Amino acid sequence: MYPKPIKNFIDKFSQLPGIGPRQAARLAFWLLNGKTIIREDLKKALEDLDKEIKICQSCYFAIENNGDNKCHFCDNHGRDHKTICIVEKETDLATIEKAGVYKGLYHILGGLFSALDTAIPKNLKIPELVNRIENKKSGDKKIKEVILALSPTHEGDLTAHYLERLLKLLKVKITRLGRGLPYGSDVEFADAQTLSGALESRKEIK
Ligand SMILES: [Zn+2]
Repeated sequence: MYPKPIKNFIDKFSQLPGIGPRQAARLAFWLLNGKTIIREDLKKALEDLDKEIKICQSCYFAIENNGDNKCHFCDNHGRDHKTICIVEKETDLATIEKAGVYKGLYHILGGLFSALDTAIPKNLKIPELVNRIENKKSGDKKIKEVILALSPTHEGDLTAHYLERLLKLLKVKITRLGRGLPYGSDVEFADAQTLSGALESRKEIK
């Protein structure tokens, strides 16, 4: 029904999280009927994602491509380098930061296990997490606590249980977010007060 470039746009955009074919079609026509400058700005923003961003090799958060190799969390000596908070995705980190109570480091897993997985998903930064903890085993920067700040969902639980078993072998204190987050919710959408409470009431996994 639609001309090929619009069909193509819809195919590509409906692969994005939270966007279905109908919304993608609406976007296509909104952009097409809007000012050229909006499309130019969007093109530039997409290109900048490739050119201007790189990934912190410690926690896997995105950083500006300006010569730094570490993000402003990993490179900040004012933060607690003995605690790592494990999150599924960058936007979860942003929500935790906004809550303002956590002052340690992060580790972005890049996803969660799904119920259909028969093996450990290769895209998750789990070996990198183990290396990170192992490499800091001695000295005053030794990791003391790992907080599992994964969403309270079936996928979050599957991932947390696997990580608990794995990290126990490394002899670090493991905690999980405590009360407040309802089952099935997403860390990203938690409000600051709930998240602060969940962080403060975190429970040790023994
Ligand atoms: Zn970092």
